[in-house]
Amino acid sequence: MIHEILPVGPLQCNCSVIGDETTHEAMVIDPGDDIERILEILSEHQLKLKQIVVTHAHIDHVGGAMRLKRLTGAPVLLNQNDSALLAMLPTQASWLGMRAPEAVTIDQELKDGDKLQTGGLTATVLYTPGHTEGSVCLYFEAQEKLIAGDTLFAGSIGRTDLPGGSYDKIIDSLHTQVLALPDSVEVTPGHGPLTYIGVERESNPFLQK
Ligand SMILES: [Zn+2]
Repeated sequence: MIHEILPVGPLQCNCSVIGDETTHEAMVIDPGDDIERILEILSEHQLKLKQIVVTHAHIDHVGGAMRLKRLTGAPVLLNQNDSALLAMLPTQASWLGMRAPEAVTIDQELKDGDKLQTGGLTATVLYTPGHTEGSVCLYFEAQEKLIAGDTLFAGSIGRTDLPGGSYDKIIDSLHTQVLALPDSVEVTPGHGPLTYIGVERESNPFLQK
């Protein structure tokens, strides 16, 4: 499995480029910005992009999705419950003093338990509302990898004070979905350094009973 992580845009969202070395099919997760760099990585590994997956509709994660779609033809996948946030992209841009990106349309809805196939790689969609109403994580069980979006960070969890956020829901999502995974699973958070489920179960102050 090819897994390149590049922090993109002013908020340094961790964008993941995931590829199957045999079939050369790829998935890009959270192309918030820096689409040229993402395209370079795809071409360095001779990958063909099959799907653009967005963990949630905050501008730093979804801002470049339509541009990447236009340049590659790959569909955009997102949970329907973030539609209201997608409609608020111009407002989100104004919070950050950025130019509003083009309107994002969902080509395929992500639902809990969906299996996404990229070549021989399979990701299971975990619906994890709380940071936003439509937040999801992607679990590559065979590779013991979780792409967590802004639900879980090393030593912290996603903020819940923005529209659609709920502290009770994120805590519930973390306990029922994320901490249900084995300790050995490597976590790629939406921002900052990588971590492991076991490390967060043990030491994350938000996850202690
Ligand atoms: Zn976010």
